[in-house]
Amino acid sequence: MKSGPQAWVREEILALKAYHVASAEGFVKLDAMENPYRLPEKLREKVGRLIAGVAINRYPDPAAPELKRRLRDTMRIPADAGILLGNGSDEIITIVAQTLARPGAVMLCPEPSFAMYRMNAVLTGMRYVGVPLRADFTLDLDAFLAAIAAHRPALVFVAYPNNPTGNLFPEEAVTRIIEAAPGLVVVDEAYHAFAGKTFMDRIGAHPNLLVMRTVSKLGLAGLRLGYAAAGVDWIGEFDKVRAPYNVNVVTQAVADTVLANVDVLEGQAAQIREDRDALAERLRDLPGVTVFPSAANFILVRVPDANRAFEGMKARRVLVRSFDGSHPLLANCLRLTVGAPGENELMLAALSESL
Ligand code: PMP
Repeated sequence: MKSGPQAWVREEILALKAYHVASAEGFVKLDAMENPYRLPEKLREKVGRLIAGVAINRYPDPAAPELKRRLRDTMRIPADAGILLGNGSDEIITIVAQTLARPGAVMLCPEPSFAMYRMNAVLTGMRYVGVPLRADFTLDLDAFLAAIAAHRPALVFVAYPNNPTGNLFPEEAVTRIIEAAPGLVVVDEAYHAFAGKTFMDRIGAHPNLLVMRTVSKLGLAGLRLGYAAAGVDWIGEFDKVRAPYNVNVVTQAVADTVLANVDVLEGQAAQIREDRDALAERLRDLPGVTVFPSAANFILVRVPDANRAFEGMKARRVLVRSFDGSHPLLANCLRLTVGAPGENELMLAALSESL
């Protein structure tokens, strides 16, 4: 008789839980930081015609020169930086971890942060070290610098702004981390469109800096496109690890065309920023709710009983994310994506009825 997966699968994978995505059918979907707005009709029609003409019988161009040129222009990537594209920035995290996972290498991250950093440390056999944020989710810079000195990490991830807490660590603190780190520092700017701050123009100044972004939160989550900029020496190594056809022909063509109209997406992001600030005000009025500051398109709140609030909201057909139980600092915390104004109203009503 053959033995099953329990006998053969790596222990650390048997111990993992798969990344959970709740079914959102029939819900106001405010759990995944998507942009709630569709593209304007004209642009959608243009995208439709474009897709009809894409040669899906051919492999994509692995170098994606047109898309890279478009990104360089629209996202102000420095002329001398190299660019790495990924199937979402999720894939870029994997590529970077795979490339740096020498035996014994350490990945260092503030905690709590984006769950996929640690997941990729586990998958690649890196030693993961988390440095707790303070109780108010601010960065404990002294503790972080001490951890850098103690562990000499090959790889540091700093989400700027941070997920799921929403706050932006001080620019000077992140600069100190980049200067102190012996290895690569990834500044993950997934929420850049809502933050108004970036390290993109600092790549030339720091040979160990990689700035990673995604078009997901900007309104193209379904396309799956992430990009990273760093010195060409780093990008050359990552390109050896990347699967050659990792960004498909449809994604390349559609992203290029939509980003030619990036002002549409930026207008939507500006609306979301405005609505975020209005929503935060309204949340502050709810009794027993603590609202944490956000520079992203979501707001972290602490409620008296997260399970009760989450289930109550779900019963009212509003889906958010509960982080209760995922990290000690996140006890009773819910993460609320900023939606369209009507969705935010439904969410506020569902929350206040579920406290
Ligand atoms: N980084 C951060 C901080 C995120 O929150 C996310 C998505 N939740 C990602 C990276 C991955 O985004 P994507 O794969 O859609 O580009």
